[in-house]
Amino acid sequence: MLSIQNLHKQFGNLVVLDGIDLNVEKGKVIVVIGPSGSGKTTLLRCLNVLETPTKGNVSINQTDLNFEEKVSKKDIQTLRKQTGMVFQTYNLFPHMTALQNVIEGPVTVQKVNKEKAKEKGIQLLEKVGLGDKIDYYPHQLSGGQQQRVGIARALAIDPEVMLFDEPTSALDPELVGEVLRVMKELAHEGMTMVVVTHEMSFAKEVADEVLFMDQGQVIERGHPDHIFTTPKEERTRQFLNLLS
Ligand code: ATP
Repeated sequence: MLSIQNLHKQFGNLVVLDGIDLNVEKGKVIVVIGPSGSGKTTLLRCLNVLETPTKGNVSINQTDLNFEEKVSKKDIQTLRKQTGMVFQTYNLFPHMTALQNVIEGPVTVQKVNKEKAKEKGIQLLEKVGLGDKIDYYPHQLSGGQQQRVGIARALAIDPEVMLFDEPTSALDPELVGEVLRVMKELAHEGMTMVVVTHEMSFAKEVADEVLFMDQGQVIERGHPDHIFTTPKEERTRQFLNLLS
């Protein structure tokens, strides 16, 4: 459903992604782990072209973007309409309420009728446990609540796949659980997800496939039972030992 082939990204002379392949099937959860600076965030941002890859292909359903050729704005928009992104630092509009944040995409980009968008927005905020906070502004919400608004906002465009960029790493430890719970629920409902995270318990419990990245390459990939118990590669073992 979503796939990338031979993806490269350079910032100047710095090679950040060095030939990544990935195939995400419908309903699957892929978790990307790896040391700081290994290119995890850049990979996710290339998946919906928030960063433009230097080389390689990104395909979603019938749309194939080949970055060795000129990529059309229309294809980028088609790709973005199918991907919901959740950022580390929430990126909510501070002057908008939770509900206004959630309906912004559907109303302004997708031209959905405002009343319909509101109805759905309220349902989504209820789904993430914030039905009583729809009129609150971001500064009136905790980090965990803001991130749950961020998830509702990403869901509001009915994406085919949800991309999570370290969604809990800016949170105080006691707020991490409430965000992971919402993500686990989505996974159990069959949402297709690509998640960059340092939360190994989430990866163990929810991932269908774990990708271990280092220096812009996928060093090892497989089911969490394999990656976390019998990794083949020395670098994976070192990384996991460092964490434990
Ligand atoms: P972390 O776990 O610390 O978030 P990461 O694995 O997500 O790290 P990236 O954020 O993808 O790593 O960064 C990979 C490398 O690319 C780093 O060396 C970073 O400094 C560099 N980099 C990322 N974005 C840019 C940019 N816009 N311009 C220049 N260099 C960048």
